[in-house]
Amino acid sequence: MELFEHVKYTGTMVNYYFVCKRKLWLFAHNLNFESESDMVKIGKLISQTSYEREDKEIDIDQTIVIDWIDFENKIIHEVKKSNKLEEAHIWQVKYYIYYLETRKAVGFKGMINYPKLHKREIIELKDEDREKLRKVLEDIKAIVSSEKAPEKVRIPTCKSCSYFEFCWV
Ligand code: SF4
Repeated sequence: MELFEHVKYTGTMVNYYFVCKRKLWLFAHNLNFESESDMVKIGKLISQTSYEREDKEIDIDQTIVIDWIDFENKIIHEVKKSNKLEEAHIWQVKYYIYYLETRKAVGFKGMINYPKLHKREIIELKDEDREKLRKVLEDIKAIVSSEKAPEKVRIPTCKSCSYFEFCWV
């Protein structure tokens, strides 16, 4: 499929697209301070210690990493440390479903697990989502291939962003 030629769209890139275009660009250009971020460390810890009975982190084509897959019920699972449902989480999981559908010809639903909230959210991919994701992936391609990072814009997410010091200090 032409869309996937030349660019590897990871789930993190799709997530960051919905959080901040500058964050997406910095991440895609390997300006990666993630290991220094306490929020990221907490997120990984929650992901590793929740739902311990399940197999973890299924890497597909070194492009998307799914936390675990319930093959019996055809559900892919994503764990989030957040205490609220975020648009970026939804689109990350929709992208996983889309990727599996278009690249592997298999149909799954998604589920986002919020251990802090003791909540789960079912995610399904609709026709309008497929159309939107195609546009999002084209947009990501344009952003990451630009030589300059998008301008910084102060948003609530900045204070917990791993690039905060790079952008604002
Ligand atoms: S600190 Fe704010 S502007 Fe900078 S990359 Fe993060 S979210 Fe974007």
